[in-house]
Amino acid sequence: MTQHEHPVQTPPRAPSPVHRFGTLAVHAGAPHDPHTGAVIEAISLSTTFAQTAVGQPVGAYEYTRSSNPNRDNFENAVAALEHARYALAFSSGSATTAIVLQSLAAGSHVVSVSDVYGGTHRYFTKVAAAHGVHVTFTPSIELDIEELIRPETKLIWIESPSNPTLSLVDIRAIATAAHKHGILVVVDNTFLSPYVQNPLDHGADIVVHSVTKYINGHSDVLMGVAAFNSDALKERLTFLQNAIGAVPSAFDSWLAHRGLKTLHLRAREATTNATSVAQALEASPNVIAVNYPGLNSHRQRAIAIKQHRKGMGGGMLSFRIKGGKEAAERFCQHTKIFTLAESLGGVESLCEVPSSMTHAGIPKEQREAAGVFDDLVRLSCGIEDAEDLTADALQALEKAVSGAKVNGVNGHA
Ligand SMILES: *Cc1c(COP(=O)(O)O)cnc(C)c1O
Repeated sequence: MTQHEHPVQTPPRAPSPVHRFGTLAVHAGAPHDPHTGAVIEAISLSTTFAQTAVGQPVGAYEYTRSSNPNRDNFENAVAALEHARYALAFSSGSATTAIVLQSLAAGSHVVSVSDVYGGTHRYFTKVAAAHGVHVTFTPSIELDIEELIRPETKLIWIESPSNPTLSLVDIRAIATAAHKHGILVVVDNTFLSPYVQNPLDHGADIVVHSVTKYINGHSDVLMGVAAFNSDALKERLTFLQNAIGAVPSAFDSWLAHRGLKTLHLRAREATTNATSVAQALEASPNVIAVNYPGLNSHRQRAIAIKQHRKGMGGGMLSFRIKGGKEAAERFCQHTKIFTLAESLGGVESLCEVPSSMTHAGIPKEQREAAGVFDDLVRLSCGIEDAEDLTADALQALEKAVSGAKVNGVNGHA
């Protein structure tokens, strides 16, 4: 290391939890009410909290934007599950991304993997530049990280697995390279949830989630969270959380906390279901390729085995269907259990065509370079029964592909 490079000071890590994931999911950040004994926390809707003298609030709270009991409890629970010392909740996953980017000084440079969540790509390309932060995208970060780092590079942004092609990044390898130059590594862990992967354990500095997906898990709350170990980040991001005010309501914090208590059960079931569907699709002559990190055929299966709990693949997969865009669209209309809709990570299974829906905003050339072809279908497996989901996917596949033959759409099938 040369003298002008500043290594990241490794912050103290969170103490190793005594209990395992399921126990923490149910009990972390869930104290009984000391006054009533209520086992489930009350929803604290009050926006302001009484003070006994000027500057002397009765308890820990003054004004709800700065902090409130429900948000605190949710943040404590996420911190425990991500093996972090701190977690901060925001009004959405997108607000979380925005605040992490806004914590950088004007003139900072960021390196990001190419196939990030569509909204993240939009923020990086259309908003960050307005406050002088510039982002370089790379489809092969493990290979070219050293070349892409500039003196002003401050952050590396990873999604693993990526959306919607489910490619993986070796977090430890990137963190090791980044830390030599004093650069922080952020991992968007939305697709796996803290049950399947804990990025801080692999050297990441910040882990972010769209809580809207697996953590809440019931498709009825929009929220985000960031978790980390460093005191300096705690100070800066807490300041921005309050100053910008993109915070979740007490009610949403309570709902998301309720959802999180069953995360381990849902994540296991979603993995079982996605594995079954992925295997069935892979065996079908109507499928060109399946992207699922739980399959041995996944090109980066070794990373999944190293980084994911028991090598689990999670609930998300995507596949290329024979018959092009039309077949992909027909597939999503023929499913009876998978609902055609954006989003993911809920108890109910969803399907979508990224090129015309979630990733429509990314120019076609860039999209295809990242593997997002028009015939790609993305599935979010919920917690229904594996047999039913697999049968549903196979019957929709059959109809979608034979439809192309019958109607001769595009002349290929
Ligand atoms: C949904 C999503 C986001 C954005 O979260 P919102 O809660 O919708 O703002 C960010 N990253 C990933 C991977 C997502 O799936």
